[in-house]
Amino acid sequence: MANTSYAEVAVPLHVFQTFTYRLTPEQSVLAEVGARLVVPLGRSLVTGYVVDLLDELPAELGGVDVKDAHSLVDIDPVCSPEIMQLARWVSDYYACPLGEVIKAALPPGMTPKKKTAGFIKPKLRRFVRLLQSNAEEQKLSDGQRRVIFTLEASGPMLLQSLLKTANVSASTVASLEKKALVEVYVDAIRRDPLTESLGIKSEDHMLTAPQSSVLTQIEQQMNSGAYAAFLLHGVTGSGKTEIYMRAMNKALSLGRSAMMLVPEIALTPVFSRRLRARFGDQVAIFHSSLQKGERFDEWTRVKNGEARVVIGTRSAVFAPVRNLGLIVVDEEHESSYRQQESPYYNARDVAIVRAQKESATVVLGSATPSLESFHNARKGKYHFVTLPERIYARPMATAKIIDMRTVFVRHGKPRVFSDELLEAIRETRERGEQSIILLNRRGYSSFILCRSCGETIQCPNCDVTLTYHRSERVIVCHYCNHHEAVPHVCPSCGKKYIYYVGEGTEQLEEMLKLLFPSLRVARIDRDTTARRKVFEQSLADFSAGRLDTLVGTQMLAKGHDFPNVTLVGVVSVDAGLALPDFRSAERTFQLITQVAGRAGRGDRPGRVLIQTYHPYHYALRHACAQDYEAFYEEELRYRQNHSYPPFVALASILIHAPDLGRVRADSLEIRKHLDAANGERKCRILGPAPAPLSRLKGEHRFQLLIKSRSRKSLREVADAALKAAAEGGINLRSVNLEIDPVSIM
Ligand code: ADP
Ligand code: ZN
Repeated sequence: MANTSYAEVAVPLHVFQTFTYRLTPEQSVLAEVGARLVVPLGRSLVTGYVVDLLDELPAELGGVDVKDAHSLVDIDPVCSPEIMQLARWVSDYYACPLGEVIKAALPPGMTPKKKTAGFIKPKLRRFVRLLQSNAEEQKLSDGQRRVIFTLEASGPMLLQSLLKTANVSASTVASLEKKALVEVYVDAIRRDPLTESLGIKSEDHMLTAPQSSVLTQIEQQMNSGAYAAFLLHGVTGSGKTEIYMRAMNKALSLGRSAMMLVPEIALTPVFSRRLRARFGDQVAIFHSSLQKGERFDEWTRVKNGEARVVIGTRSAVFAPVRNLGLIVVDEEHESSYRQQESPYYNARDVAIVRAQKESATVVLGSATPSLESFHNARKGKYHFVTLPERIYARPMATAKIIDMRTVFVRHGKPRVFSDELLEAIRETRERGEQSIILLNRRGYSSFILCRSCGETIQCPNCDVTLTYHRSERVIVCHYCNHHEAVPHVCPSCGKKYIYYVGEGTEQLEEMLKLLFPSLRVARIDRDTTARRKVFEQSLADFSAGRLDTLVGTQMLAKGHDFPNVTLVGVVSVDAGLALPDFRSAERTFQLITQVAGRAGRGDRPGRVLIQTYHPYHYALRHACAQDYEAFYEEELRYRQNHSYPPFVALASILIHAPDLGRVRADSLEIRKHLDAANGERKCRILGPAPAPLSRLKGEHRFQLLIKSRSRKSLREVADAALKAAAEGGINLRSVNLEIDPVSIM
């Protein structure tokens, strides 16, 4: 009989400590690190994760009243040693609670808030299979014969489908079961997110010389079996995806598995189909718009080694693939790799660390690498490989800036579309070619203004204006999703001079339909993509030439390959340039370069027209010249002069709560603790100041920034200050510490 032992448990809450529980002798035998354990915490039961097993109570707990664990959920741990090790790294590096990280690493539904909600499980169904086929010798009814015949033809079947195909009732099957001719059994059925895409043919290309050279270098490193990192800088349309797939194939042929991370949900269907065509059933897909059951089944297939290729968004980096040989991070510069809530982590950086820990190769790919990655490549941390040309040496699109200041002067009022852009849309249509029109603002109007009192209509919960969505006749907050009916009179003065200002994608679509009645236009933005089917249908229609023009937000800029698109129009980027964030120039440069990459991918050249009131901004000039290096040099100078990453490590501390007075007081208190911890002056501390979004979801927000040339000092100062703050009574649940924030908004 085993002795009682103890489990150290991390709970999926924003608390930084772990807890120790006593296990029963039976639990002591069965429990393993990585298993879920239901434990009492405060007055309720929570599901936590075993992170360590102890034979004896640690000395520092001597005398403390240790509680009994409630129940062990898994015999087979849900979190493998590799994933546990990775989660520990994430928790240390990003200063996030380990329990929160493990929860984020598992599919949703595995750690329900209330125990009563039940854990997600395989979906079980009844199947039928034939036991003997000497049915001829038996006396059978017609229905019974049809059942036998159907099973002979198609093998074991779901009971449901068998009843349909053989056109019989369940009692017919039951009678055959009595005769021991068939067996009814229970098994898990797979909830497959990609069923519709089976049977698509995979295209096989001869690699171009530059593709071969890049692939050879990657394969050589993979052969060595040791960690290696690559930054693949390849212009849009240069054939990066082909390289990713070949490298993944290589990993499989070496007996290892492969993972590919993609930034957007919207991209996943396209890529996952291509991967499914290439790798068949070995592909598992992970992203947030799958249903929980689908996610769970895909995760299970990976965990038990059935699927050896994983494609997915951010959290797929934690997929329990065994013997990982390769991680591809496509569009590595994308900010969606960063999780914007605790645990804050950047999947690209986690991918690098995972590759190191598992001796895998990692390939970061982009047409517009992040400044950090480019810097790392320059310093020799990554191998740098390039695809400088498009496939078939197709020319890059020519880009041109349209100075909206002169358009304004000419017309005496602001215009949404310059004549030049309208003319280009018309010509493109006449030639039977397609266009993409981009504006980074969804909705119909960006805000509503009262002409009588000058008030704008604000979100009651956030410090932003509400956006008018005409088709649903509501005004909406794009941050908290607060909806209200469109007002007929101004809520502050009661007069009816309500006026809509600024255009969104919905209005652009309508304007284009009015200006060009025969133009076939559809819109792609978060409003339409909320409905996955509509979105996929629009892309399919555009791809098949049933649409002439797509209007949309940045979702359109990425990844898509439409050979007949020869015009990209950017209605405005000025709002993005003006954001109070040190990455706003980099983001704008990337956006323009990416969207320009959508034009001229077929055999006709493309062109890009960018409307702006800031025609001389360096991000726009270099994007138009498609000169990444020049942009990089200028941006690096700016970052160096202003002490921003990659020259310093950066952390932000956001203090948020409904009560403004408390937020202010807590912020000042934290500043004091930071100063006290920063005696050696190794860090520079800025703030507290109201965050650029000073109110969000009903909470006020203050922000502090910490910069330092030494990442170690940065962490020491931040950790010491927050520890002191907590001891002084500040609730750390309303304090977010973010290491390497991608945005300081
Ligand atoms: P990227 O990911 O760099 O934007 P893609 O991999 O999507 O580029 O390739 C652009 C287009 O070129 C795709 O239609 C792809 O099928 C095609 N392609 C890629 N490699 C080759 C090749 N070696 N020969 C011919 N066509 C290719
Ligand atoms: Zn809001």
